[in-house]
Amino acid sequence: MPPAADFRQMLRDVSLRVTAPRLAVLSAVHQHPHTDTDSIIGLVRDELGTVSHQAVYDVLRALTTAGLLRRIEPPGSVARYEARVGDNHHHVVCRSCGTIADVDCAVGYAPCLTASEAHGFVIDEAEVVYRGLCPDCSVRS
Ligand SMILES: [Zn+2]
Ligand SMILES: [Zn+2]
Repeated sequence: MPPAADFRQMLRDVSLRVTAPRLAVLSAVHQHPHTDTDSIIGLVRDELGTVSHQAVYDVLRALTTAGLLRRIEPPGSVARYEARVGDNHHHVVCRSCGTIADVDCAVGYAPCLTASEAHGFVIDEAEVVYRGLCPDCSVRS
């Protein structure tokens, strides 16, 4: 994880003011990739004490809009956030416990899958979610 100074620089690079909640959210998501909003609120409160839900929602929205975080929403899961942005990686989701891991883009660039019929669209993204059982769940079943 980048040192705290780098989180400040990241905020400055996208012209966001450096605030304690923004630093805490950035650091929480770097340490816990694919975390949902409630867990992020918990992590931020551990660090800063009282912070309202709304404040954390606002920070998540600002950081996502600025491109510092990516919001993912696998089917059947709540929204989650990660700090790995700027590449076209996919996710593998455990069908049993919901654990999520990163999977590099199969071809290395978006949209990864060529649509069999583009209907005249200029397609720049394919949302790929792999599903199965994680190592823990597959030994238990
Ligand atoms: Zn699992
Ligand atoms: Zn990811």
